[in-house]
Order: sequence, then C-alpha cells, then structure tokens
Amino acid sequence: MFRDGARKSIWQEEIKRFAADAITEEIFDVAVIGGGITGVTTACELQRSGKKCIILEANNIGFGTSGGTTAHLNDFFDTTYKEAIDKFGLENARLLARAGKEALQIIERNVLEHNLDCDYEKKTAQLFALNEKQEQTLADMVEGAAKVGHEMQYIQDISYPIPFRKAVEIRDQAQFHPIKYIRGLCGIFKNAGGRIVEGCLCERHEEKEDIVYLQTTMGTVKARHAVYATHIPPGINILHFTTAPYRSYAIAFSLKGNNYPKELGYDLEDPYHYYRSHVIDGRELLIAGGEDHKTGHAEDTGACFSNLENYCRQYFDIDRVEYSWSSQYYEPADGLPSIGILPGSDGRVYAATGFRGNGMVFGSLSARILSDLIISGTSLYEALFRPGRFKPVAGFTAFVKENATVIHDFIKDKITMEKVMSLAEITEGEGKVVKYEGDSYAVYKEHGGKVHLLKSTCPHARCEVRWNSAELSWDCPCHGSRFNINGRLLNAPAVKGLERMDDPA
Ligand SMILES: Cc1cc2nc3c(=O)[nH]c(=O)nc-3n(C[C@H](O)[C@H](O)[C@H](O)COP(=O)(O)OP(=O)(O)OC[C@H]3O[C@@H](n4cnc5c(N)ncnc54)[C@H](O)[C@@H]3O)c2cc1C
Repeated sequence: MFRDGARKSIWQEEIKRFAADAITEEIFDVAVIGGGITGVTTACELQRSGKKCIILEANNIGFGTSGGTTAHLNDFFDTTYKEAIDKFGLENARLLARAGKEALQIIERNVLEHNLDCDYEKKTAQLFALNEKQEQTLADMVEGAAKVGHEMQYIQDISYPIPFRKAVEIRDQAQFHPIKYIRGLCGIFKNAGGRIVEGCLCERHEEKEDIVYLQTTMGTVKARHAVYATHIPPGINILHFTTAPYRSYAIAFSLKGNNYPKELGYDLEDPYHYYRSHVIDGRELLIAGGEDHKTGHAEDTGACFSNLENYCRQYFDIDRVEYSWSSQYYEPADGLPSIGILPGSDGRVYAATGFRGNGMVFGSLSARILSDLIISGTSLYEALFRPGRFKPVAGFTAFVKENATVIHDFIKDKITMEKVMSLAEITEGEGKVVKYEGDSYAVYKEHGGKVHLLKSTCPHARCEVRWNSAELSWDCPCHGSRFNINGRLLNAPAVKGLERMDDPA
C-alpha cells in the first residue's frame, strides 16, 4: 500500500518506496518530517542552500494527500482575493497574490532548471458561473482580483460542454504529475547530499538548548531545526482547533471521441467541481473533482463517487471510469494557510498546514517561507501566514491538559469478539462503530467473513472515528487522523494506530 486509501489514484503507478537511508548519530541542520510536496520541496530548497537535511517519512514519499491530489497549479485560491481584501485588507491581499505568483515560479524553476520529467504544462484556467448567484460571485472575484493585480478576463466560450452564464479565463496557470515532480525533487535532494528515511514515524519532539530531539520509530534524530510537513502537525496544538479536515473526491474518465478540454476548469458550485485532463500511459483522461465534505460527515462515502460520476455524465460523453479516489485536505478558520513557527515551540520547530485545495501551490510556497525563516530568520510572508496569529479558543488549555497523556486502560477486561459481534449486525464489506458496556468499538467485516475489531477512540484527542466505506478506513472527524482496517495509522495528527482488540499483542 503506497497511498493513504484503498482506492488507486491516477498517479499511483509512480508511488513507490524511494530510499533506503538509515538514521545516524550526526546532528542535521534541518529534519523535515513528511515526504509530500511540502516536505520534499522544503528539504530540497534548504539542502541546495547548503543546509544538511534529512526527510523522515512515516510511510513512503507521496503516501499522503500529494499522492491523491489533482495537481492543478493555480494562483487564484479557494479563498478569493475579494474575501482576502475584506478580511485582511488590500495590502495583505496583494501579498497573497504575490505569494501565489512566487509559488508558481518556484515550481516552474525547479522543472526547467533540472529538466524534471513530470508532465509539466503551462495552462489557461477557466472559471464559469452556472447560475445568477454564481454570476455575482464571479463578478466579485474579478473585481477583487483586479484590485490585487491578478488578471481575470471575461470570455464568451469555454472548452467545457457545460451550459454557463458567465466565464473568465486566467492565463499562466499550470499542471503536472505530482509524484513524478516530487520524485524528481527527491533525486535533486539526494544528489545534493540529502538523506531520506522512509518507514520512519516521528512520534514527538523535544527542544533542548539549540537542538531538537525527534523521537522516531527508528531512533532519535537530532537537528538544529525541525519542520512538520505532515499536512497537519502531530501533538495537541492550537492549529488543531483552527483547521478542519475535509475529504474531496476525484474520478479520471476516458471520453468517447477525443474531445478533452485543454484548459483547467472550475465551476462556482458549493462545493465546486474542478476539471483538467492528463495523459497517463499514452491515454488522455479527464479528471473531475468535487463532492467535498467535512471528514467523517458523509454517511456513505461511496455515494460521493456516484454523485460525482452522475453529475459529469450529464455533460461529458463518458466512455468509462478509469480511476476513482478520494483524499483529505485542511480548511483553515480564517481562509489562509499557517506556515511558520509551530505555536508553542521555542523557535526551532516549524509547521505548514491549512492549505485548503491549494496545497500544491502553498506547499511549494512553504519551502520558500520556511527556508527564509531558517536561514535568515525572516520572510516577506511571515506575518501573513504566521501560525501563531490565532488566539487560543475558550477551553483550549483545559483540553490540552486533559488530553496530553492518553491513558491506556482500554484492555481493562478483555472483551471477546463474540460479545461485540452479537450486538453488531454487520454484513461483509461493512464497517460500524458498536457500543458495548460503555465503550465503543470499530468493527469491520471483510468479504469472506474475517472480522477486525478495534477500539474506536482516536489516540490523538480521543474523538470517535467514523467508517469511510470508499477508502476502507476509519476517519476521525475532529482533526483528520485516519486508520486502516487493521488500525494502522494512515494520516496525522495521530502518531499511533487504533488499538486492536482481537490481537492486542
Ligand atoms: C482530492 C484533492 C484534490 C486536490 N487538488 C489540488 C489541486 O489541484 N491543486 C492544489 O494546489 N492542491 C490540491 N489539493 C491539496 C493538496 O493536494 C494538498 O494540500 C497537498 O498535497 C498537501 O501536501 P503536504 O506535503 O503538505 O501533505 P501530504 O502530501 O499529506 O504529506 C504529508 C506526509 O507526511 C507523512 N507523515 C505524517 N505524519 C508523520 C509523522 N508523524 N512522521 C513522519 N511522517 C509523517 C505522511 O505519511 C505523508 O506522506 C487537493 C487535495 C485533495 C484532497
């Protein structure tokens, strides 16, 4: 399993174990935790600036959302420039626009300078309003964009067979194959002397004097700075209260005929649909995305795929579904990502999270911001994206105290599978949370009848997980930790799996 879900993403053929480096005694300048676009780009940037870096990845490079993205490279964001002006003022909105341009340049520079074979293509994007309300939203977007110097031009036609009322185009956007890109960067990083350790879960850190000690499943790593590029940092932090996990769905279709739209496409529904095409194994496919919802808040995640497929079938002459997958992203409370010093750190630990659906771009931007902060102590974007900008919410301190130590008294009386199963009417292929004697259990019955019984309490902050039938995982609706049917950890912020009740070895 090279991705954090049971379904195969369109990029999956390229996701493999990358490196076999081991942990050593030396002190690194920077330890980067997480091998997605954020971690790899940041480590590469720092290593090329002369810093000695190590990437610690719990699974394999590209295991997380970077292996389940759709990889549009756009510098108009889910938070529109109009919203940014209203919330943060014109100057900050201009800075956001500048950040977007800089991020696209970082990606393009990496591709061109190193001749990376990653299907990179410059693209024009088309945004289209499907009804009167969306027409107004579009007008607001265009007005906001103009104020920050970001060009959106009204157009008469779009390349999508979708009836629309008004549309705009945005030039100088792009797309690529995210895993080919990340693996290319890993090659540059390794050639520059960087280390990559896969299968290495970072469990916690401690800052002592000028060293960060990282306790990992493969031993202690020492570094002068540490970067959590884990999509959301582990531990209990204010960032867990100011970002919320969401799931989005993607399907790659082959079309009858050869009428693949060349532009990136977006409607303005809520949640919106996003489209692009990509040639995989010599065959062009249309990738459509949408149906987003808060993690753990869809009764039947399989139905989200059917809804997306049915929606697309109304407009496109679809031949067949070639790939369908889903993945997780993080929504920040104020609409902007958090990139910089981890709140609560003494100043040597950094994090990057809250990217919404723009993490290819904000993950790349994180590389610039974090390397500037580590190398020179300042960044142009430091204040705009400062993770510490959020004030603690009411009850936060009490919550942290209560959850700081997760007490493991679960196996107080060894319940039997039979007892729980007698309460649960579960059909093959189904997962359910079952209450028994004041405790609750996550039960999954495989096709063929084998049953997996886990404690359903997420070890991160003790919320109850929910079943995700589409990806065969247990998803925590609070902060986004996810686990497979065996209880194995798939996604941060948890750093351990769900407790197994049928095999508590
Ligand atoms: C369906 C979907 C479509 C999207 N489409 C787009 C798009 O078109 N354009 C765009 O810009 N953005 C898009 N996004 C958002 C974007 O894909 C993500 O924001 C981005 O991939 C996040 O990258 P990351 O490197 O920060 O995190 P990830 O790719 O999730 O990487 C984090 C890594 O950290 C590792 N890790 C976690 N915890 C630990 C630990 N304790 N120790 C060691 N390693 C650990 C994980 O195994 C993982 O490999 C999309 C998101 C979704 C869900």
